[in-house]
Amino acid sequence: MQDDRRKVVIIGGGLVGSLCACFMGQKGYDVFMYEKRPDPRKTAHTRGRSINLAISHRGRAALRSVGLEEIILESAIPMKGRLLHSKTGELQSVLYDPIFNNCIYSVGRNFLNEVLLNAAESYNNVTVKFNHNLVDVDFRREVIQLRNNDTMEVFEETADLIIGADGAHSALRFAMLSTPMFQFSQTYIDHGYLELRIPPELGDKMTPNHLHIWPRGQFMMIALPNKDTSWTVTLFMPFKNFNSLGSEAKIIHFFDNTFPDAIPLIGKEDLVQTFLNTKPSQLISVKCSPYHCGSKFLIIGDAAHAMVPFYGQGMNSGFEDCTILNELLERNNVKIEEIIRQYSKIRVPNAQAICDLAMYNYVEMRDLVNRKSFRVRKTVDEV
Ligand code: FAD
Repeated sequence: MQDDRRKVVIIGGGLVGSLCACFMGQKGYDVFMYEKRPDPRKTAHTRGRSINLAISHRGRAALRSVGLEEIILESAIPMKGRLLHSKTGELQSVLYDPIFNNCIYSVGRNFLNEVLLNAAESYNNVTVKFNHNLVDVDFRREVIQLRNNDTMEVFEETADLIIGADGAHSALRFAMLSTPMFQFSQTYIDHGYLELRIPPELGDKMTPNHLHIWPRGQFMMIALPNKDTSWTVTLFMPFKNFNSLGSEAKIIHFFDNTFPDAIPLIGKEDLVQTFLNTKPSQLISVKCSPYHCGSKFLIIGDAAHAMVPFYGQGMNSGFEDCTILNELLERNNVKIEEIIRQYSKIRVPNAQAICDLAMYNYVEMRDLVNRKSFRVRKTVDEV
């Protein structure tokens, strides 16, 4: 078969799946992307996953390859360093790259997903189907079963390459668990996160172009800027600490003692309401090997290597997965079976190393940044 006549099925139309659809669309393949949720461009956004993300060079390189770097960066906010908040309100800027001024960018998750979906659908050879769930995988026959959630019809689908970009709780990865020699481990850390917000009218009280951190040893709070001048504030803390803050008085007392300068910015009422009405979310780290199965199945993004968010590399690594797969597919006359085998060989050790670095970077961000010796050296993490 001619390489450009290949049919590719992608499960999951999140950030990584929709970028992958752009790469495969650009190659001229027949692409079918199935996403279990409704079209996010037509539905009200729901709270849940982080509202904004830090994009760095891995992610930018992938976006550049499909011609989307410029449009994303135009709507992103550069963050040239960390801005550390002490308990007594002193601020200290620690630049990521004082020599070459490299920086990371804060970008809205919904905006990014919408740009990627629009770009994917702009290829005539890419079809995106929402409300379609992967429900079963038959590795022996090399077919998958999908359910149309509108009609409840269940149907079979197959392709030359079937890619699971279906996130940390991937159904394709789950099916791979029962195949021989597939290694898998997952870890929920005992810290969770809660998102708070500094409204646009108070956004200018925050030093711009920084990733703000309130490092407090065992836990931390961070804030990333949004395009509308608001800031998304995320508190990462052990669940037991969250559980101990069950009343308005306890929440205010905790913030007064720990993050006093953040109270007027977030506002007491919003702070208390968010705490009392929102459960902190969990954080999972997933490692598995290999990332391929049989002659046509592959997992990428969080499906292959979900990581804790402290290195700001989950999406960036998923985007890099797309770059690497794209490069391997450039090799003419190499069978998909061999390409996905090569992909696992290259990608597993690197992605697992990033999972480890992400875990380590929590200690650095919440604690080590407070040490004098740390601040003087050039910090390259999160980038
Ligand atoms: P997802 O975004 O989870 O998308 C998977 C898609 O698959 C979803 O749309 C889902 O509906 C769909 N799906 C699931 N199951 C099925 C099924 N059975 N059938 C069909 N479709 C299905 N990363 C960074 O790089 N920088 C950051 O600053 C950053 N900050 C973060 C902050 C927090 C608090 C968290 C939790 C994560 C952060 N990340 C960050 C990580 C980043 O969010 C993820 O790595 C990224 O979203 C992974 O994209 P994905 O497409 O692989 O998975």
